Amino acid sequence: MRHAIISDIHSNLEALQAVLGEIARLRADTVYCLGDIVGYNANPNECVAIIRSEGIRSVLGNHDSRAAGLEDADDFNPYAADAIRWTREQLVQENADYLRDLPRELVVNDLMLFHGSVHDTDRYILYRKDILDNFRLLQEVPGAPRIGLFGHTHIKMAVALAQGTPFLVENGPLPLHKDQQYLINPGSVGQPRDGDPRAAFCVYDDSEQMVTFHRIEYDVLACQAKIIRAGLPIRLAERLAMGR
Ligand code: ZN
Repeated sequence: MRHAIISDIHSNLEALQAVLGEIARLRADTVYCLGDIVGYNANPNECVAIIRSEGIRSVLGNHDSRAAGLEDADDFNPYAADAIRWTREQLVQENADYLRDLPRELVVNDLMLFHGSVHDTDRYILYRKDILDNFRLLQEVPGAPRIGLFGHTHIKMAVALAQGTPFLVENGPLPLHKDQQYLINPGSVGQPRDGDPRAAFCVYDDSEQMVTFHRIEYDVLACQAKIIRAGLPIRLAERLAMGR
């Protein structure tokens, strides 16, 4: 089975459509989403509707949680908080209800899906200490899932844990070994932050035991035009072109 992993769509319809088109072309069997379906960009209802109609299993992201009214956005930067206020006004009831009901984590066979960190939607995995903490937490989860899938940073990351030592895997496809654990972030569909504006996702092939990382171009200008037309902060449109 080939599992496509997407994350941090952030109401970017053009990027989501481009990614799902490429996933179909790659003949993935299932698609999982690591949260933040909404926030920042201008098509929250359309993106939630696609995730629902495609039957894509998703976990709750920190922006989903604020947009659905589960938490307030006081700790967000002003641009992100503006977008949350706008998104709350836009979301139709059934889409808000859908977001509110998303689980914070999902375990599917050897995979564990979460948005930020294991048991913490808002916490980032950035540094060595975060990586070690999360490998430990993963081992404490019933069944000790071998592969932790996360988003939230909007930056691709792949780390293997072999004999207690984490190794950052920089580029190329990642062959998996049975006796190692992994933390993998596919990067962001709708707001990449690694300097490459193309939408990011990854594919886990469980029979080949291989993870491949993908980037796909989408219509950034169309997405930017909608952000400006919606009256969302211009900064949110500008950053898409820079991939920051
Ligand atoms: Zn995000």
